[in-house]
Amino acid sequence: MARVDYNVNMTHLDALRAALGSSQVLTGVAAQPYMTDWRDRYHGQALAVVRPGSTNEVAAVVRLCAEAGTPVIPQGGNTGLCGGATPDDSGRAVILSLQRLNRIRGTDTDNDTMEVEAGCILQTVQEAARKVGRLFPLSLAAEGSCTIGGNLATNAGGTQVLRYGNMRELTLGLEIVTAQGEIWHGLRGLRKDNTGYDLRDLYIGSEGTLGVITAATLKLYALPVARCTTLLALDSLESAVAMLERARRGFGASLTGFELMAGDCLQDVVRRFPQQHLPFDGPSAELPWFALLELSDSESEVHARERFETVVGDAIEAGVVADAVIAESLAQTHALWHLRESIPLAEKEAGKSIKHDISVPVSRMAQFVQETNAALQDAFPGIRQVIFGHLGDGNLHYNVARGVDWTEDQLLAREHDVHALVHDRVSSVGGSISAEHGIGQLKRDTLPHYKDPVEMTLMHRIKAALDPQGIMNPGKVLG
Ligand code: FAD
Repeated sequence: MARVDYNVNMTHLDALRAALGSSQVLTGVAAQPYMTDWRDRYHGQALAVVRPGSTNEVAAVVRLCAEAGTPVIPQGGNTGLCGGATPDDSGRAVILSLQRLNRIRGTDTDNDTMEVEAGCILQTVQEAARKVGRLFPLSLAAEGSCTIGGNLATNAGGTQVLRYGNMRELTLGLEIVTAQGEIWHGLRGLRKDNTGYDLRDLYIGSEGTLGVITAATLKLYALPVARCTTLLALDSLESAVAMLERARRGFGASLTGFELMAGDCLQDVVRRFPQQHLPFDGPSAELPWFALLELSDSESEVHARERFETVVGDAIEAGVVADAVIAESLAQTHALWHLRESIPLAEKEAGKSIKHDISVPVSRMAQFVQETNAALQDAFPGIRQVIFGHLGDGNLHYNVARGVDWTEDQLLAREHDVHALVHDRVSSVGGSISAEHGIGQLKRDTLPHYKDPVEMTLMHRIKAALDPQGIMNPGKVLG
């Protein structure tokens, strides 16, 4: 697509239409679905939603916006949980949807890499890797609709981080459209490259505030030969932490998942989605905590099973685990994971909640949860905690929902106070207020309270250097 010069006789919208074709510049009703986030917590307005189909078209859009001083809001699958992809309500911004940049450009099985465009759906990338006998391990409940660009921009984590790392660790190269509309061709498939500052790591996790990610070179891994999955019923959070330690020792790098779920989260899932079942009867079904544990073995089914049964069996004998159900088939494995992945959906059905995506050292987790639960009940009697997440990474979704005596409005009116109570406690145990979801607009004003002032200053300087006009996703991450 040839460069379109913005001139005074053309409106900004005309120029965008000339660059992309009118059908890819949405306004009015067609643009509305892009203006609200997945949780229905943030609503904005934009001049238009533009849908470029190539990197050159993305660059043309950003150049036009830079010339006009128009804010650019990159958007992928719009599943983010911090309002990062939602514009403000001024109606000045252009939402830049990456959904049409959805080609898998190539796979190099000798190098174990895959080059994909930013708008590829995560699940499509996982399936493409499987087709060539490889694993792309990023896995999260929104994988059917989130995009690689959004995963990169938020440095997404998910359920396999304890073995494979988060999105930053799964990425070797990037293609970027800068805030000035230049294209940085950084799609290197190299595992070693010490040639100066690591710009790749700067763009990953920048939530669209420094530039637009248009493509990436991703790392692939060997497909496991066998997987074993179990749901463990536990008497206490201390037992969950003790079991994690046993699993780490017993399985080493084969431990690929350790997800914690509060009992009432699972009860809520089976109540709202009657096709799902908790695979325990009697007192085990009533226990306060459950953990989903997964082992991925590179030798054989028999080898996996033996290791698995030894570690889980020993834990039951030692009284660390109260009960366990081991998946006997792929269908049962999927059913167990489905229970875990349905928690955010059940939570959404129950109404708006107050989210915390925190990480604390695993060694402090049990005490943190116990003391913070008590402090919350003291300050806001009758609220409900919704606790689940990636215990293996020290990352919990420690959410707060309304109890029976609360209305949604009453709960949301206390959001600031609830955040402050939880985040102060997270900070006091050396934790982070955003483990994997990012900052967006949700935690923009909170961030300076918990981050080192020098670190904040450096972040502002980086923003000013890479986006001097401040057009890239303004009002997100930094105030
Ligand atoms: P969007 O929501 O469209 O955007 C998110 C941010 O990235 C915005 O700031 C946006 O401006 C920016 N952005 C998007 N695309 C680009 C691009 N190409 N270039 C530059 N900036 C861009 N997250 C986890 O980490 N782990 C989980 O386990 C997890 N579970 C989830 C479960 C559910 C049910 C839901 C709804 C969400 C979950 N999330 C989780 C959050 C979310 O899915 C991830 O953050 C995901 O990576 C966002 O991808 P997206 O394409 O939807 O991005």
